[in-house]
Amino acid sequence: MSSITLPINCRHCGKIMKTAGPVIIGEKPEQRTARQMQALGEHLQADHPEALMKAVMIGAQVQGMLLMQNFETSDPTITTHMDQMRYEIHHNTRRIRIPDASIALRVSKIELSPDQAQEVAQAMREMRDILMETDREPEPANPTRQ
Ligand SMILES: [Zn+2]
Repeated sequence: MSSITLPINCRHCGKIMKTAGPVIIGEKPEQRTARQMQALGEHLQADHPEALMKAVMIGAQVQGMLLMQNFETSDPTITTHMDQMRYEIHHNTRRIRIPDASIALRVSKIELSPDQAQEVAQAMREMRDILMETDREPEPANPTRQ
């Protein structure tokens, strides 16, 4: 493991956080990560308690969702809540967004008639929207719609 530690900046105040310190010989990476997380959590608790509270609440919801995945129910109260949690996790953690321009660029590389290209691009946009559940997203947070 590298002994180089890259800076971690607080998104709330811009503070450059102290790292977990030098690598301790024999320390497992997960132990080092745990020390780092502890320090970051202490910063949130001291300077941004609302952000820490939000993280704790979401963590509890994720834990509840993972617990409920071990059971089956048709209770709409539970299934609706579970689906909302699943969506929020997906929405907040997905790595990529696919703008219409990216779809158009990809389709332009396929040898198609203009009508076929339009149909393929439309099908790809529809598939993207289904997978990304863009109909559930608030407009400002929806960069795929252009
Ligand atoms: Zn901060």
